[in-house]
Amino acid sequence: MTEELFIPADKYVLTLSGQAAPAARARQNAPISFETRDCFSNSLTTEADLFTKVGWDRINPATGPVFIEGAEPGDILKISILDIEVAETGVITAAPGFGAMPETVAEVTRLVRVEGGRACFNWPRAEGRTLRRELPIRPMIGVIGVAPANGQTVPTGTPDRHGGNMDCQRLVRGAVLYLPVFVPGALLALGDLHAVMGDGEVVVCGLEIAGRVTISCQALKNVKIPPPFLAEGDEVMTLASAATLDEAAALAVLNMQSFLTGELKLDPTAAAMLMSVEGQLRICQIVDPLRTARMEVPRAVLEACGYRLP
Ligand code: CA
Ligand code: CA
Repeated sequence: MTEELFIPADKYVLTLSGQAAPAARARQNAPISFETRDCFSNSLTTEADLFTKVGWDRINPATGPVFIEGAEPGDILKISILDIEVAETGVITAAPGFGAMPETVAEVTRLVRVEGGRACFNWPRAEGRTLRRELPIRPMIGVIGVAPANGQTVPTGTPDRHGGNMDCQRLVRGAVLYLPVFVPGALLALGDLHAVMGDGEVVVCGLEIAGRVTISCQALKNVKIPPPFLAEGDEVMTLASAATLDEAAALAVLNMQSFLTGELKLDPTAAAMLMSVEGQLRICQIVDPLRTARMEVPRAVLEACGYRLP
């Protein structure tokens, strides 16, 4: 039996960079378990603690980075998300100046208990009434990335081609994520778990929560799929980030077209039309320094072509 490698939450980074010292070295295909703090470094412990007091030196810690043995620049890192466990309490905040409605929200912190796989929200209404919403949790990874290309240093709060703060609600247990490798060992870090989050993440966060993520990694050689690429449930998807949502959406679509032509051997126009009738172009988030969109295509399309993901 392979012993699981454990990376404690005090081994964290606030930037992704090829210059970072690895927190650990991991063998391919062996389970790696990351303990993660929430995106506020677990510093909001009462509803009187406000997001704007946290300080940027404590926002979006990512546990790691882990050096994956044998991963070389030009490879694709296949990351299988084996498990996500979350803590018993999550936190959601709003603050003026943040999110998609920066001028119409107050500064509020809400702590939310997670019990029996459900999170219960009590939203205040007028005249002392309350809207109670009990939601099944769907734990997901907000930040997962490798060291970026060209010697860049990128804050963990920024998504891009290397992954990072993509805030994609499909990054759940059972998902398989493909990221590019730009430096030896890839230098993978992750954090920013959400117990539940809607597409868009419009207020600036989901139900932020500490937890533990177990993954395994494999470095794929000579694979052409356009990363970041994600397989989850009944769909595969390209994830793309850019300064505007329009640009992110266009890039996600182009990357999926490139997958459909390169791997499934459709011609570019057929690929475009296929996406237009059975693809789903969705928003991951519109609140981070770059916006993230995803283009989803049914896995059945791959199966009908006799194609298996590497
Ligand atoms: Ca995030
Ligand atoms: Ca978050």
